[in-house]
Amino acid sequence: MAAMRCVVAASAPAWGARALPRRRAGGGALGRLRRRGGAVLLPPPRMGRQGETLEDWCPAHGREDLLEEWDEPVRGTREVTRGSNEKVRWKCGKEECGYRWSAAVGHRTRGSGCPACAGKVPTATHNFEVYCQETGREELLGEWADRSSRPKDFMPGSDKKVPWECRECGWGWEATLNSRTNSCHANGCPACAGKVATPTNNLAVWCGQNGREDLLGEWAHPDKAPTDFTPASATKVPWQCGECGWGWEAFVYHRSRSTQPRGCPTCNPGGGGKGGRVAK
Ligand SMILES: [Zn+2]
Ligand SMILES: [Zn+2]
Ligand SMILES: [Zn+2]
Repeated sequence: MAAMRCVVAASAPAWGARALPRRRAGGGALGRLRRRGGAVLLPPPRMGRQGETLEDWCPAHGREDLLEEWDEPVRGTREVTRGSNEKVRWKCGKEECGYRWSAAVGHRTRGSGCPACAGKVPTATHNFEVYCQETGREELLGEWADRSSRPKDFMPGSDKKVPWECRECGWGWEATLNSRTNSCHANGCPACAGKVATPTNNLAVWCGQNGREDLLGEWAHPDKAPTDFTPASATKVPWQCGECGWGWEAFVYHRSRSTQPRGCPTCNPGGGGKGGRVAK
């Protein structure tokens, strides 16, 4: 055990040492100190399971890599215990990586490694921009409309919501990165897909093109206009019958669909179509 003790000159405070007044060096709280040739032998650090210093724990457990990756500017590996919750700086030991990050000492001794090598954080070689280039999805970079961040600041699987702008139609919308990179159902521009109301795709335009101006006459929404909805919208809105004045609510798409469009329930007690369009 003596080999593990640190030998410190009495006049030079080092690890855990305060300037030791000579007159007290022989007893009291410092009674455990031994003098040897003018040097004071400090007791070894506390050796409880959690209390062992990182410096001592690493070689005993084959984890010298942690000592090499230690990148903390103000603290040394003798100044933290191996189970410490204290967050310190590390630098990945892999030459091709060299990523710097912060992690609690205890996290590292329990097995956590470099987040860049594990693909958890964006790096120069692994990020959303590189992903787009390597998978032929450069159009996503062209549609990037976030002024406060760059594509290379994110991982392709990030659930961060950012603004996009369609190259085809100029529509702006927000979507998470992973919803756009998802290989099963990658989301594209909702306007091009007809999912949102636009100046050229909305219920008012559709009514004009399909001879259904009667729907515009029966529109009774207090603060939204037919231009705010697509003809396929699944939103329930209020209507007022042009024939009898009856007010009721119905889905937009129930009224605009080509088969069995819904009409006023009073004028059409079958619950169904207007003007005898219901096939019974
Ligand atoms: Zn790394
Ligand atoms: Zn579009
Ligand atoms: Zn009616």
